[in-house]
Amino acid sequence: MQIDPRKCVACGNCLPVCPVGAIRVDAAARRAAVDLEQCVECFACFRGMSMENLNPTLVRTIRRVLGIFRLRFDPEPDVCPTSAVVPQELSWPRIVRRAFSDPLVTHESTGIHGRGTEEVKTNDVTNRVGPGEAGFTVEFGRPTVGTRFIEIQQMTSALAREGIVFEERNPVTSLMSDRARGLIREDILQERILSAIVEFKTALSQAPSILRKIREVAAQLDTVVMAGVSARCDAAGDNPLEEILRREGFEFVRGKTNLGLGRAGNPAMHTGS
Ligand code: SF4
Ligand code: SF4
Repeated sequence: MQIDPRKCVACGNCLPVCPVGAIRVDAAARRAAVDLEQCVECFACFRGMSMENLNPTLVRTIRRVLGIFRLRFDPEPDVCPTSAVVPQELSWPRIVRRAFSDPLVTHESTGIHGRGTEEVKTNDVTNRVGPGEAGFTVEFGRPTVGTRFIEIQQMTSALAREGIVFEERNPVTSLMSDRARGLIREDILQERILSAIVEFKTALSQAPSILRKIREVAAQLDTVVMAGVSARCDAAGDNPLEEILRREGFEFVRGKTNLGLGRAGNPAMHTGS
């Protein structure tokens, strides 16, 4: 994303729209600009504001003249008055930023919008996590924080050394150059994105040791990491995972319950962490 300096009138309206703080106004130049290193190509600034077509020279002149009298001319807060925000044609590897940051873009590897995966939310249909298994989602980055693939790789390579096999139908897995070692393609390692999810499953009994490993690696990363672990409930709605995690000293919060309405005969899932 770029801001056209010929059009920008430095009103500052686009600053709060950017989820990673990549837009700054240069007070001396009286222009806003995108820090392309920080920008995750989420397109929020372009889509989240109405683009009007006021004449930039006229708007600057009005703002300057009113400024002399300590008056202000500010456009409505959700408007870029001069259509100065201009999307760029993205090529590889930068285009992966948009795939993992713009919720309206479909992931090519999975055909799913947003983070490109349904996780275990639709396990009643996908049947990924079976009885006796724990399904993991490890999510990296959030608005205002973001992440880079090199940080995700730090986690995936550590998990691979624990014998983890990554979920095939997941966009991060599709970008791995060596799945057995948890290595991601070298040419995208420095790309910055809003967030991504790594998925895999283990035996239920292995869940505590893997959670400990995730916690150990997450402490070394300069981003936010959230881990979720899910298992099937029995017919009474109980779940052995809960007891296993409590016994190992984890606090257990039942986060989501999937009722299993997608396909007859599949018991419910529940997600805790
Ligand atoms: S909203 Fe438009 S005119 Fe205002 S600072 Fe941002 S790019 Fe410049
Ligand atoms: S595309 Fe997204 S990250 Fe980049 S400047 Fe716009 S709002 Fe910020």
